[in-house]
Amino acid sequence: MLLKAEDVTMSFGGFRAVSGASLTVTRGEVVGLIGPNGAGKSTFFNCLVGDLKPTSGRVWLEGHEVTNASPEEHAKLGIGRTFQLPATFEELTILENVMVGAFLRHPHVRQAREAAQHVLELTGLSDLADQKAKMLGTPGRKRLEIARVLATEPKLMLLDEALAGLTPSEVQKAIELVRKIHSSGVTLVIVEHIMEVILSLTDRVLVFNQGKVIASGAPADVVNDPAVIEAYLGRSHARRQGTH
Ligand code: ADP
Ligand code: MG
Repeated sequence: MLLKAEDVTMSFGGFRAVSGASLTVTRGEVVGLIGPNGAGKSTFFNCLVGDLKPTSGRVWLEGHEVTNASPEEHAKLGIGRTFQLPATFEELTILENVMVGAFLRHPHVRQAREAAQHVLELTGLSDLADQKAKMLGTPGRKRLEIARVLATEPKLMLLDEALAGLTPSEVQKAIELVRKIHSSGVTLVIVEHIMEVILSLTDRVLVFNQGKVIASGAPADVVNDPAVIEAYLGRSHARRQGTH
């Protein structure tokens, strides 16, 4: 078991953003996490990587309990996440941004630069290496966010809407990139609204609604589950399907 989260609850004041959510991820899997805006998906990710300490529940990474570990400890143990809103250093170059990630395992500048260059090749950003991050548009930013995390050499990567805001052809290219990352040996948990992405990339899907996991299973089954259609896609989708 690579990741195990048991009964994770995260309250803000009296509001439970995540309410008793559990997830286990086995090495090599691609797990999808779907659900409407505000369902608690990003908050759950925050609890898994140490950005938030859950109000209750426990999290293990390869058998090490990490419930109260710092984000740095999580990163060292091999879990990394992308941010829904890319966290780029605008005035640094694209190469330098990726080096920030690479320093986790390569404390010397030369090695960090080499590792970062390798990641830029993998993510198709090599040609832009020396440009400042602020020059990037949405697709480039999304790629850089993935590259920054990849440079920490994670075993498990959590992608939080890493493909949101892309055009259909950019989405296709991003799907190829995610496949490449997976085949390089990285286990993935993907939050994504685009059903095509979920259906084409994931082995298994969990559906979040109001902080709870309301369904899970094979992607094709889950997206056809009427409760899921109602909760996640809303009535407009159900109407289009002719069921309302
Ligand atoms: P999702 O990623 O599924 O769209 P989020 O995890 O971002 O959902 O948010 C879940 C709920 O928790 C939302 O209602 C959001 O407003 C609330 N929330 C998230 N972070 C905080 C916070 N730091 N303080 C208070 N409420 C928060
Ligand atoms: Mg979110």
